[in-house]
Amino acid sequence: MTVCSHMLAGFSLGYHQRHKLLQTLESTPTIASILELEPRQLAADKIKVLALDFDGVLASHGSALPLPEAILWLQSCQELFGEERIFILSNKPTDERSRWFAETFPAIRFIAGVRKKPYPDGLETVARLAGVSPAAVLMVDDRLLTGCLAALNAGARPCYIRHPFVSYRHRPLAELFFQLLRGAERVFIRLACRF
Ligand SMILES: [Mg+2]
Repeated sequence: MTVCSHMLAGFSLGYHQRHKLLQTLESTPTIASILELEPRQLAADKIKVLALDFDGVLASHGSALPLPEAILWLQSCQELFGEERIFILSNKPTDERSRWFAETFPAIRFIAGVRKKPYPDGLETVARLAGVSPAAVLMVDDRLLTGCLAALNAGARPCYIRHPFVSYRHRPLAELFFQLLRGAERVFIRLACRF
């Protein structure tokens, strides 16, 4: 099953990058949500391109559309970076999401048809399309062993969202599963670094 294979890849590839993942996890300041990411500060840190995860980062798990506050944040990023330098790199690039972006932010590109995170393919595609080195790409993700690991594997920069958007009211089982998975990732990385 493909869902399982990229999760398993996360744990095996994650072991090799465990020290850098721990650094990502412990980097300060901890970013609770994208709303704490100031576009001007990102640009000052030599970030030229944003690759954004969707679930947990722009909306709660499985939502069709970004949250209103995430839309406002996207607008402020768009003004500074330009839409053509923002990409959505989700392991679930659904048609509904893709259509909404095509109508609302037509130049923000959805990356699909590549091997899922944690493989570096999506971020390599982002860097190629934007014409920048992977080091200028910031991958914003709420998962250490998918998005953050993909960033490390591609030579891009990871930004770990520590307190993602969740909605237990809408999808209690899925949210619980992913919260447990996020916690398991953190435990795995801390334990792996002892070896
Ligand atoms: Mg996510």
